[in-house]
Amino acid sequence: MARYIGSVCRLCRREGLKLFLKGERCYSDKCAVERRSYPPGQHGQGRTKVSEYGTQLREKQKVKRLYGLLEKQFRGTFAEADRQKGITGENLLRLLERRLDNMVYRMGFASSRNEARQLILHNHFLVNGKKVNIPSYVLKPGDVLQVRESSRTLIRIQESLEAVQRRGVPSWLELDKTNFKCVVKTLPVREELTLPIREQLIVELYSK
Ligand code: SF4
Repeated sequence: MARYIGSVCRLCRREGLKLFLKGERCYSDKCAVERRSYPPGQHGQGRTKVSEYGTQLREKQKVKRLYGLLEKQFRGTFAEADRQKGITGENLLRLLERRLDNMVYRMGFASSRNEARQLILHNHFLVNGKKVNIPSYVLKPGDVLQVRESSRTLIRIQESLEAVQRRGVPSWLELDKTNFKCVVKTLPVREELTLPIREQLIVELYSK
């Protein structure tokens, strides 16, 4: 599977926002956005006028990078959101939030979505009691996500779980830390997705 292998801090600086792609480092004063809060590159500190298209493009890039998707995967998710009933932008965010890699991160079983993907590929999780190693797998209400019994002693998972309080667990999920288990209570409503995203701009961009 293709993946981005460049500097992830560069992506945050480009979007002018902390995307939390590096786990613990993102909460420290070593964060590149804190130290150099301007876009990377030779012209990063120059003044630029952003067009309407540019604003829409940046919003799409920001969301794509936040969830760690490449263009083709992101477009596929958008097409799926467009096919569903309801507001396309909100459907898109709901689909992204319910991806297995995002859920593993949100639940605190991993310190970043990248680490979550790696742990999933290494078969550390069960969904409804069955082994699932597909990061793009989408969970639905009632699904139970669990760390495999043999993987519960992994230091990476234990340390991440310790640190989850700082991020907080979304209200539409229920975490049982003792049993390394989480339940998807309902579909998230827009108000519960508190990330600074203007999804309408993405819809406008892809509707051109
Ligand atoms: Fe982004 Fe984290 Fe790097 Fe800061 S440390 S720039 S939040 S990836």
